Amino acid sequence: MAEKRDYYEVLGVDKGADKKEIKKAYRKLAMKYHPDVSEDNEASEKFKEISEAYAVLSDEEKRNTYDQFGHAGMNGFSQEDIFNNINFDDIFKGFGFDVGNIFDMFGFGGGRRHHGPQRGADVYYDLDITLEDAYNGLETDIDVPHSRTCPVCNGSRAEPGTGTKTCQTCGGTGQVRQVNNTFLGQMVNISPCRDCQGEGNIVEHPCSNCHGRGIVKQTSTIHIKVPPGVESGSRLRVPGEGEVGARGGPAGDLYVMINVKHHKLFEREGANLYYEKPISFVQASLGDTVEIPTLDKSIDLKIPYGTQSGTSFRIKGHGMPHLRWNGNGNLYVKVKVITPRKLNSKQKELLKEFAEISGDEIHTDDKGFFDKVKDAINH
Ligand SMILES: [Zn+2]
Ligand SMILES: [Zn+2]
Repeated sequence: MAEKRDYYEVLGVDKGADKKEIKKAYRKLAMKYHPDVSEDNEASEKFKEISEAYAVLSDEEKRNTYDQFGHAGMNGFSQEDIFNNINFDDIFKGFGFDVGNIFDMFGFGGGRRHHGPQRGADVYYDLDITLEDAYNGLETDIDVPHSRTCPVCNGSRAEPGTGTKTCQTCGGTGQVRQVNNTFLGQMVNISPCRDCQGEGNIVEHPCSNCHGRGIVKQTSTIHIKVPPGVESGSRLRVPGEGEVGARGGPAGDLYVMINVKHHKLFEREGANLYYEKPISFVQASLGDTVEIPTLDKSIDLKIPYGTQSGTSFRIKGHGMPHLRWNGNGNLYVKVKVITPRKLNSKQKELLKEFAEISGDEIHTDDKGFFDKVKDAINH
């Protein structure tokens, strides 16, 4: 198989192109290569190539995946997944192209708009977790509202024991054909039959459980495993737990969107954690060993003498687990030297003596007035 070309190159747009530019570029190329009008022998191949590029770049999620991982990132999507989000009716509005044939051309059989299987929509579920959960990983049950096949009629839409009759309007095909004269010539337009909603048959006694829809809304409890190292914006895919498909099509997928809540002690950046440790000016001057909390156990950190406020220490391997490989990030401890707000007379005396020995001349006002004002401002 030939190497796939870069999607941006295929559409002739640059990497920063916005949705509008991408649509415009695609529309222009689609008009040129649509097999109904093109003389080019390879038109249908080219049309498919530009359509695939457009399908990916016009969908924010797929585009992000492609930007990050290139064509390899698209392996998780089926062809139908990829093309599902192109609205050909919108692209070819007013041109009378046979939109149904586009799907035939891509080899999806009848395509999603007509009398054929249609994949169910994806369902998104927001899950808030703590930083501890993100550190350890989490197994939990979530209640997901989605549609399922009606258990009473098994999706047939008819009351059990009753049947359906063939739609008279479309003769059971689910489609109506219309021939239009356009400036590009005569075009056949195929659209879903309105009388049977493209089903090809009409239910005489609709199922009372689902009111003839063949599907029911329900909430299912789904067990999920959140791996250690997830971040806000990570998503877990649970195949087949989205909305049910139409006419025997596969169900969509469930995406659990992870949000890691803010932690009262740690800031996080990727796999690294940041922690601020207040120490006294005596500890900073003389050095000390202090206890630092981590997400599993606390550890001792040696503060050397003469440490300045704002100095950071790296504690290797005590950050968050890496999601994609073994090991952890680091914990960075930034010390903040605290100046005492209140001193008793003995402490003041010692500090003055300290200043004297150091050769510092200190001009303080011991009457207490400014102390009171300062206290008033600081509280
Ligand atoms: Zn039913
Ligand atoms: Zn019909």
